[in-house]
Amino acid sequence: MPSTDLTQRALRRIRPDVRDMHAYAVQDAAGMLKLDAMENPHPLPAALRAALGARLGAVELHRYPGARIETLRRALADHIDLPAGQALILGNGSDELISLLALACAVPPGPGERPPAVLAPVPGFVMYAMSAQLQGLRFVGVPLAADFALDAPAMREAIARERPALVYLAYPNNPTANLWDADAVRATIDAAAEAGALVVMDEAYQPFASRSWQEEIRRDPARNGHVLLMRTLSKFGLAGVRLGYLAGPAALVGELDKVRPPYNIGVLNAECALFALEHADVFAAQADDIRAQRAWLAAELARLPGWTVFPSEANMLLARLPGGDDGARKTFEALRARKVLIKNVSKMHPLLAGCLRLTVGTAAENAQLVRALHDIQA
Ligand SMILES: *Cc1c(COP(=O)(O)O)cnc(C)c1O
Repeated sequence: MPSTDLTQRALRRIRPDVRDMHAYAVQDAAGMLKLDAMENPHPLPAALRAALGARLGAVELHRYPGARIETLRRALADHIDLPAGQALILGNGSDELISLLALACAVPPGPGERPPAVLAPVPGFVMYAMSAQLQGLRFVGVPLAADFALDAPAMREAIARERPALVYLAYPNNPTANLWDADAVRATIDAAAEAGALVVMDEAYQPFASRSWQEEIRRDPARNGHVLLMRTLSKFGLAGVRLGYLAGPAALVGELDKVRPPYNIGVLNAECALFALEHADVFAAQADDIRAQRAWLAAELARLPGWTVFPSEANMLLARLPGGDDGARKTFEALRARKVLIKNVSKMHPLLAGCLRLTVGTAAENAQLVRALHDIQA
């Protein structure tokens, strides 16, 4: 049999739903001003780069990751002031942790039963639905209100009906960038408790937000006994390093640790993360700058005719443009023609009709973006 036929036959062994999927698309950004993926626009200062280079040069690449990973785990636990009775595990980005959560919750359904559900507000982070699908779980999306507020009654109703295994709350949310009302979150967490669900508070954007659920967990641990806190160093400033972490009650986190591949964090990644934590002040100053830039950029965008800019507690701004999806598409394409890459989210969900998502850059980058937008309007 010719080798291409062998390949074709072997392909039929791949799950049909996987064959029907599209791979996660990363936009080509060569030569572009990159404002599409909520990356920190600030590189490490030159002196720190040199120091990091020396550190990485000394890492024992011929050994499997070992004690250094444990050092990093403890450094992160200190960094978030991990409460007593809680544990913390590391993931290759929070994306891996999201996959591991789905894996750990994929209880095979009994005869006539439906698979367990993963429930999250929509529009939201795409990996929640994707990890559910890949694991054979149901994904239940609960629409946000028109102003992107968390619809607590709708969440309560859906959680009572679906009795999900997992509830995700991105705090702040992506792509809407807002931080939900704490009472609405509390009501959702209580509804999840009644259904016996785990809740994951996804705080990828914590460096830019005014509040963290960690304060609430510390204030009222009993009410948050089913709540996990997920964070990442990606938006903090190390998107290339791939390091996420998950903290929560030791008994729950211990179970998730069992499905984690033993060497999921590379030694270079771990060393970079340790180095970054030693220089947390540098990253905190970068986050301060990004928050100040966010205010400047929001005010500039709000002055564009017909634009609505939504409140943001993240390093991105969501804006609704005049002219619906067509208006959003035209502006997206006109920016791309001017070498500025943002994200057109208008087709992601009906609530996002006519919307674009823009990552906050440096002062110079934001000025370039605003100039390009004025140029387009003219
Ligand atoms: C960017 C983002 C993440 C981060 O994923 P990593 O794999 O850690 O880079 C997680 N959750 C949300 C809501 C995000 O927007």
